[in-house]
Amino acid sequence: MVEPLEDLFTEQVATWARLKRGVDGLVHAQTRAVRIDWFDVFVRHIPHRVGSTTAAVDRESIAKRPCFLCKDNLDPEERGITFNADYTIYFNPFPIVDRHLTIVHREHGLQHIAGEFGTMLDLAASMSGYFVIYNGPECGASAPDHMHFQAGSRALFPIEKDTANIAGVKVPNYARNVFLFRGSERAQLISRIYRAIELLSEKTGKRPEPLINIAVFHDRGQWTVYLFPRGKHRPAVFHTGELTVSPASIDLSGIFVVPLEKDFQRITGEHIAAIFREVTLPDAAFNRVAAQLESET
Ligand SMILES: [Zn+2]
Repeated sequence: MVEPLEDLFTEQVATWARLKRGVDGLVHAQTRAVRIDWFDVFVRHIPHRVGSTTAAVDRESIAKRPCFLCKDNLDPEERGITFNADYTIYFNPFPIVDRHLTIVHREHGLQHIAGEFGTMLDLAASMSGYFVIYNGPECGASAPDHMHFQAGSRALFPIEKDTANIAGVKVPNYARNVFLFRGSERAQLISRIYRAIELLSEKTGKRPEPLINIAVFHDRGQWTVYLFPRGKHRPAVFHTGELTVSPASIDLSGIFVVPLEKDFQRITGEHIAAIFREVTLPDAAFNRVAAQLESET
């Protein structure tokens, strides 16, 4: 899959002006590392992300706008590669990372993970060097009305290095609460993830789907899955206007997007740690679910 993607990238950058602008914008994006305890988060100033960061995702706003993932509304130059019976892979014209992809279901229908996690594993397994992410409909998906994943180059994917030596389902002292799963058995991994999601639904009362972000990659025959249980969508600093940030899977994986220059200058590791703690599931509920998952393995 990687080779056809490289060919598509070359063709699309040459023919699709919106993607070319986004790729150029990413080249000029400044990135700086901020230290939080024992790990780095990479703060990235990307002005072209301001629309996604501030997107209105309430039901009424979504119902009013044309869906930008439906085939009829794509730019005429936009081309994709089909993946399994249901999905098409496109380049994302507002990239956060190199080779940023949007993987779109052919039918317009609500963002949901039930029945779709296996596709995430298949995508990761067929795209060596990429991570694949899922943002829940109330956790950063700017098209909560149209099922999609994203993917991008793992050249910068900080959480992979942070967790390289962690064996359990929890990452200690990590500011954000995240469940970690590794495995080479597809069916077993799928049932473990759905069990975790079911437990989160029980603890948080959110059905059919708790607030979650997911990131997956595949390397040397094994998948690594990060499941970020969320306590809330956006941090208080977003609503007060103090910082224009709205973390989703990529931010939680260690690339923190700031569209505004003034925020890029002033944001600190303390700010980011506080935002991570605020938007991921609070410790008490997280630890209860982690204990249950550990007891079942
Ligand atoms: Zn749609």
